[in-house]
Amino acid sequence: MFSMAGAGKRIAVLTSGGDAQGMNAALRAVVRLSYFHHAEIFYIRDGYKGLIAGSIERATWESVADVIQTGGTFIGSARSKEFMTKEGRLKAASVLALNEINALICIGGDGSLTGLQLLQSEWAQLMDELVDLDKMSVERAQRCMKLSVVGIVGSIDNDFASSDMTIGADSALTRIVEAIDAVVDTAQSHQRTFVIEVMGRQCGYLALTAALATEADFVFVPEWPAGSDWQTTMCNRLAMMRTLGRRLNVVIVAEGAMDDKGNKITPEAVQKVVEEKLKFDTRITKLGHVQRGGRASFLDRLLGTRMGAEAVYTVIEPTLCTEAYVIGIEGNKLKRVPLGKAIERNKMVATAFEKGDLNAVVRLRGKTFAEKVEYLQSTSEIAASKAVLSRSRSSSSISSLSSSSSGLSSPAVSPVMNIRSSPSMINAKEESGKESSERSEKEKNKSGRLGPSSDKTPEPPATMNMALAVLHVGAPAAGMNAVTHSFVRCALAAGYEVYGVHDSLTGLASGMIEKLDWSSVAGWVSKGGSMLGTKKEKVTEPYAIAGTLSNYNIKGLLIVGGFEAYSASLALSFHRKLLPELRIPIAVVPATISNNVPGTRVSIGSDTALNEIARLIDYVKQSGTGTRKRAFIVETMGGQCGYLAAMGGLAGAADSIHIFEEQVYERDVERQREEAEHRVKRRGTHHYLMVRGEGCHMKSEEALEIFRESTQMSSRLTTLGHVQQGGAPSVFDRQMGLRMGAKALSSIRTMLMEEPHPDSENEGTVMIGLQGSSIRATPMIELKKVSCFSHRSHNDTEWWRKLTHLARVLATETRAPDSA
Ligand code: ATP
Repeated sequence: MFSMAGAGKRIAVLTSGGDAQGMNAALRAVVRLSYFHHAEIFYIRDGYKGLIAGSIERATWESVADVIQTGGTFIGSARSKEFMTKEGRLKAASVLALNEINALICIGGDGSLTGLQLLQSEWAQLMDELVDLDKMSVERAQRCMKLSVVGIVGSIDNDFASSDMTIGADSALTRIVEAIDAVVDTAQSHQRTFVIEVMGRQCGYLALTAALATEADFVFVPEWPAGSDWQTTMCNRLAMMRTLGRRLNVVIVAEGAMDDKGNKITPEAVQKVVEEKLKFDTRITKLGHVQRGGRASFLDRLLGTRMGAEAVYTVIEPTLCTEAYVIGIEGNKLKRVPLGKAIERNKMVATAFEKGDLNAVVRLRGKTFAEKVEYLQSTSEIAASKAVLSRSRSSSSISSLSSSSSGLSSPAVSPVMNIRSSPSMINAKEESGKESSERSEKEKNKSGRLGPSSDKTPEPPATMNMALAVLHVGAPAAGMNAVTHSFVRCALAAGYEVYGVHDSLTGLASGMIEKLDWSSVAGWVSKGGSMLGTKKEKVTEPYAIAGTLSNYNIKGLLIVGGFEAYSASLALSFHRKLLPELRIPIAVVPATISNNVPGTRVSIGSDTALNEIARLIDYVKQSGTGTRKRAFIVETMGGQCGYLAAMGGLAGAADSIHIFEEQVYERDVERQREEAEHRVKRRGTHHYLMVRGEGCHMKSEEALEIFRESTQMSSRLTTLGHVQQGGAPSVFDRQMGLRMGAKALSSIRTMLMEEPHPDSENEGTVMIGLQGSSIRATPMIELKKVSCFSHRSHNDTEWWRKLTHLARVLATETRAPDSA
């Protein structure tokens, strides 16, 4: 099975500029999909420098085996001044034309794609010049008159304005967050302040996201130059966090951080200030190139694979091949953006930056960037200042610490410098504009003002003495604690009392409940498992639960968990008919590694699990390089949802993938065994990898038996088991947890304002979920229609089923097209 759609295409691919994890995944997809579509595919080594030097060679199907997990780029990258000149590009054009290349895919950053666009715009002229200079025949020039070009953005900075994410950013963040988590342990022991420098000369994405994911106390990013008195503001903040019981401080400084006079803010300057003013023991850690290194994260493998495939689809599609495109992603959707437009937008960012119009910079970078700042603003600043104010009235406080050590006084300070006021993430930021404005209007009418982040010193009489509660239900999933952290802090900021329920539904029935304050959830964002305790259980004691809700005056409930949490919310809603105490808003945040809950593209915990699965598969494959001629069958969790197996198989570059949703017969496995034998014998491949979900109809032991009949290779079964739940949450799960926790609160507040309060099972209960790039609340009544309760799954699986197909296509060995 292969297609002839690419016949006649001679595609060259290069990587240029700074390297980024995920580039190799993109290269693998470009090469394998070109083969699949019968296009010819060539590598250009060392970027534009190699292109000018004529370093071009045919890519083989095997050359991309075992590269998906590696960092860097295996075909090399370089920067080339010569390519920036017309003469350099003339040489490059000559190499391409002499090799009859008619499509060029460039994986690189902003600069590399600018060069690509220039090359394409000059192409016809360059061909004419080569003829005039007698360097090419007229016939060849005519044959080569069209060059399709496609760019893929590989940049750890995530600084490309036309895409939500760039290849490499998630892996770099993973490295940063791992390093900060490690530093926190030592800082905690010695009560130190750590100043961490991260990459980002003109873009604070890495610094800002790392600050959120690690609960850093202060962050300096280029987009918001620090005010002239940043020293005082920062020291106030750090001192405040110590009075709140924190034994350490973390300050993150992006490489390009500066003050509003354009003076650079260095980690050394920060250290000096903290040591002089606060007398805190302060150390600096510069992460440097470590951020580019190491294995590619699951998301970068996925993004690289998807973008690489899309680039090939673009150049082989006859109607698109004359225009230059760059592949971007918005939410979960890939998009082809005209390259010229994308470059123009990036230039606008650079110009706005030079002019100091930083609001425009943030606007052009897209909404997720601004949301992060709003979140830091609204949860950290407001809630912290309230907490400090209340403490300072009763006990030794920031003012005493400040005055004794630094002479500083104001407690209400922002963790990010000079943030321009903007609508709140806690508010209906991710709802539609209409929904959002209607709700804001309602809130205004109810409380006389807008939500928490619009007011720097909120007094919340409207919500005083109204309590909310949060509990975890089901198996633990990394990121559950981040949801709770964000929900608790946002709710405190909005003036609610918040209770944490220990021990799941049993705890709710028996009143195992604790009031949570600002400090109770400190450090939870980076913690795996469930800090409140979680269990797989059903609602068996509705009367007792109603009693607890009534005793504590609980007026809204957040349930964090997987299919059990979803089912529990439906059961509680069902009992509303009889029990008025249950007529309260209920929000569910989906947290399960299996990703089998309806209403969301991904559930919290699945990204951490997939990173773990990808890592474990890497190790399994590595063991095969020593023993050779081995077939590995790896079984993932996931119950009756094949998501983990499918995505784990894609990220691990599996040769075959079995999922619950598809029936597998004995003859299929026999065919796969023959294919495995062929590969290990004729091709000399070290191993064959099959990834399958635990819920598959044919058991893994049966598949192993069939493979064991082979005399050509030995076969092993590895069941990954509970380690898939992972340790610390991934950056994605931390961020998603924070966003969903905040959205859960805003949904509960919205429902609280609606009259009458929910009195039936079909009202007042919502699922918070990621849809597109937005977090939305979906009423349960809509989700029941798409759910399958007997299989504990749902039917909205098309997006990842398509990717399973792609993963299989990339594993399909295809013979090389005949050379021209
Ligand atoms: P990173 O984001 O990692 O810096 P980048 O692709 O932006 O990656 P650059 O050094 O800016 O890295 O560009 C890489 C190469 O692209 C340059 O060495 C040069 O060959 C080419 N290039 C960059 N800008 C241009 C330009 N304006 N015109 C022609 N070629 C360019």
